[in-house]
Amino acid sequence: MVSIMKRTVRLATLPLNKNKYDETRSVIGHYSDAKRVFVAHLRQTSLWRLLDRSKSFRDYAKAQGLYPEGINVHLVDQAAFDAVDTCIRHIESCFVRANVKARVWRRFTDEDERHYAYACLTRYSAIGQIMGGGVPEISTVTTSPETGTKIASYLHRVIRDALDGSWPTVIKSHSMSLDSTLYSVVDNDTAKGKTRRYVKVVSSTRNKRISLPLSGISRVSGNVRVVLDEENKRAFIHVSYDVAALAKATGPAVSLDWGVTEVCTDDSGVHHGDEYGRALRSMTKRRHKTGKARNKLHALSKRDAGSRRTKHISRNNLGTKKQKARLRRAKAQLQTISGAAIKEVVYGEGNRTRANGRAPQHPSQRPKEIITEDLSHLGGKAKSKKISRLCSSWARDENQERIMVHAHVGGSGIKTVNAAYTSQTCPNPTCGHVSFDNRSGDVFHCRNPYWDCNWQGDADHVASMNIKSRIQDHQIDRFTPYTEVRKILDARFLR
Ligand SMILES: [Zn+2]
Repeated sequence: MVSIMKRTVRLATLPLNKNKYDETRSVIGHYSDAKRVFVAHLRQTSLWRLLDRSKSFRDYAKAQGLYPEGINVHLVDQAAFDAVDTCIRHIESCFVRANVKARVWRRFTDEDERHYAYACLTRYSAIGQIMGGGVPEISTVTTSPETGTKIASYLHRVIRDALDGSWPTVIKSHSMSLDSTLYSVVDNDTAKGKTRRYVKVVSSTRNKRISLPLSGISRVSGNVRVVLDEENKRAFIHVSYDVAALAKATGPAVSLDWGVTEVCTDDSGVHHGDEYGRALRSMTKRRHKTGKARNKLHALSKRDAGSRRTKHISRNNLGTKKQKARLRRAKAQLQTISGAAIKEVVYGEGNRTRANGRAPQHPSQRPKEIITEDLSHLGGKAKSKKISRLCSSWARDENQERIMVHAHVGGSGIKTVNAAYTSQTCPNPTCGHVSFDNRSGDVFHCRNPYWDCNWQGDADHVASMNIKSRIQDHQIDRFTPYTEVRKILDARFLR
């Protein structure tokens, strides 16, 4: 986990005149030409040792004469760093999707072997070596040559499967990344006496900068990304800020069960963000309804291609502009609700709006640890039949990412646990009966057939309590398969 969190803010420029727009597009074009060449080069696994430090790739590219002539060398440096970043992100997302770490964990049970394998996975130099058929030497772990060879060949296979021959392509890029030497910020007064802020960015012409007028007055500093907005003939400047962390939290740990009627329920039974369900359902319904209507129209216009009616339909009813805008609004609404709920968990009740100048809670009032379910094995599983898979998985990722940011700011640790059967297991410490029948809708009622337990309560609360106790579970870890979890729980119950 990175220690500094970045938060990105997107600032729009005013619509640009043709000249400025074309100039911006041209410089981004040169930038992405260079980046394309770099990314294509980095496909060779023998160069992956250069991914550990982006500066080493830059030096390599320069020495190999990969730098194009006539473009600001510093801008090309940025393209080189950007290329390294793109490749790393690609490799990492392949690893996550293929569950590489979990597979390694299951394959090797010996501590030293796991150590060695994980050490390899965190160094691109080692990954590159493995992909070239080598056995990397890791200074912090000693292994016998046979063990090294065994692990390296397993990793080779797993990594090859994970990447599956894929590699990022830079076909048409709309953006470029700039460090602070490649732009400057200037304020000017407008005719009406207001202040207008300009970001002057590097152009394709030597010593000439393109002055992009911002639509507001916002702080622009550090590394920025300039993104073209073709539709509105303007640009966005993405600025990222470091988020400073508060003092380490010392309050009692809290566990959360992500929900669909509310954002989450904690282990004391409090629901956070009650308005969530309605917003999520209406987003699903919207998608469903308009999707159906659009499919009908699509079918109609295919049957009757070329007619006046069809042309009318495709112009007025099959555009994506309004649809996209609606989706954007729905997402923004969900983000507002979940943001407030998560802040409530992290910073404490009544502290939803830190931005409004309210003092953060005392460290002892913020949870030292936040325990959530591990979502990486869930795939596309939806929690509710009424909410589409697409919406709920989007919302889940969104919430998980948000809690990471806030937990970092609030000085809380994040732990994830295996959540298999947490909503079907009786939380009564002397019971622990597991059954699908224990839960019906929002209500949990223990149906223990052997003795009278009859434990009753809110189903989400139960899930949250069970998530909390998983943290001390020595038999069930994040990688324990679903069926195995069931066996362990059943065995415990019968004992
Ligand atoms: Zn029970």
